[in-house]
Amino acid sequence: MHLHSLELFGFKSFADKTTFDFHAGITAIVGPNGCGKSNVLDAVRWVLGEQSAKSLRGDEMADVIFNGTDTRKPVGFAEVSLTLSDCATDLAVDWHDVRVTRRVYRDGNSEYLLNKTPCRLRDIQNLFADTGVARAAYSMMEQGKIDMVLSSRPEDRRAVFEEAAGITKYKTQKREALRKLEATEANLLRIGDVIKEVKRQIGSLQRQAGKARRYQALHTDLRVLDTQHSRKQLDSLEAELARCHAEIARLGESEEANRAKIDMGENELAEQRAVLDKIDRQIADGRTELQRLQSEIGTHQNRIQFNRQHAEELTELIERCKKDIAAAETKRAQHGKEIDQANALIEKTSQLLQAKEGELAKVTDLIAEFRAERSGHEAKLEALRLSGSKNEKRIAELEDEISGLAIRRDATEENRRDLDDAISGARVKSNVR
Ligand code: ATP
Ligand code: MG
Repeated sequence: MHLHSLELFGFKSFADKTTFDFHAGITAIVGPNGCGKSNVLDAVRWVLGEQSAKSLRGDEMADVIFNGTDTRKPVGFAEVSLTLSDCATDLAVDWHDVRVTRRVYRDGNSEYLLNKTPCRLRDIQNLFADTGVARAAYSMMEQGKIDMVLSSRPEDRRAVFEEAAGITKYKTQKREALRKLEATEANLLRIGDVIKEVKRQIGSLQRQAGKARRYQALHTDLRVLDTQHSRKQLDSLEAELARCHAEIARLGESEEANRAKIDMGENELAEQRAVLDKIDRQIADGRTELQRLQSEIGTHQNRIQFNRQHAEELTELIERCKKDIAAAETKRAQHGKEIDQANALIEKTSQLLQAKEGELAKVTDLIAEFRAERSGHEAKLEALRLSGSKNEKRIAELEDEISGLAIRRDATEENRRDLDDAISGARVKSNVR
């Protein structure tokens, strides 16, 4: 059996899928501190079923999943696959290669696969038992483990040697067989108790069995008697049935006759119902008519009442009118007298009016004469106004002329004074000479 390869994906510092092929002759992996050498061993232990997160240098199982760097995001799950070749004999299986895979998710769920088929951890442990290939086996010694083995208790050291000697599997089987033996002994004890209890119950069960047997014999007698009784009852019932059949036949005939009578009765009933419906309709019509007449009577009575009141009011009105007529007669007689007086006055006034109209005609003629005269005067006045305005114009011209002459006169006067002054000056000069 050879370690063939190890595939890591998302496990600790191996973010990308990394495959280690262990060719013949590879004896070591070397690298600087912190490059991930121990992570490779952790991966081998983990894929073989390591359950302790602490021994994988973490706090919980999900810590084995690559949890990112400054430049890279964390991944969702870690997967490691270990392939062993040439293992048909060592592992007593039919396959040449065995590939063990373990996967863990962030929620802590783990799954195992054996040659890509899902399986239990126990299947993997059973497969590698006594081969030295197991998470706690001597074939994997991490840093400091050799020291620990050498300085540990003899019992712990013995476990390593037992594993190497290939007896661990038998010891496990022995432990399992002893456990089963203990369980069987416990079962035997329980069975002894059960037997004691059953023996105690046998007496009462025997009494119950005697009772049951007696019950069965009596029950058989009862069935025989019951059968005979039933036979007799059957005979009497059959006779009764025959009587009933005859009665049914007779009743059938009378039923026919009664049915025909019922049909006839129903026909008659239908006719009577039709007549009754007609009468009902007439009654309903009569009721409607009655209601109509009653409401008409009510209307007429109201009108009579109203007319009575109206008649009383009219009688009162007639009384009042008669009184008014009497008063009006008196007034009319008085007005007749007043009219006569007025007529006499009108007669007198019309005579006066005629006289006044004659006067008016004269005055009108006079007015016409005056009007003609006035229009003559007005024409003259207009002519006078025209000549007046002409005269005013002439006066204004003359006044302009006068003022021009006055100016000229003043100028001439000035001239004359100058000449006088010149003359008197000349005279004074001549006198002096
Ligand atoms: P040494 O020679 O000192 O023993 P080593 O080569 O054995 O070192 P490991 O201990 O295998 O190195 O690897 C440690 C490296 O793995 C550290 O750089 C650590 O940051 C990284 N590492 C561990 N767990 C994770 C994880 N879950 N995600 C990312 N990186 C991780
Ligand atoms: Mg290391």
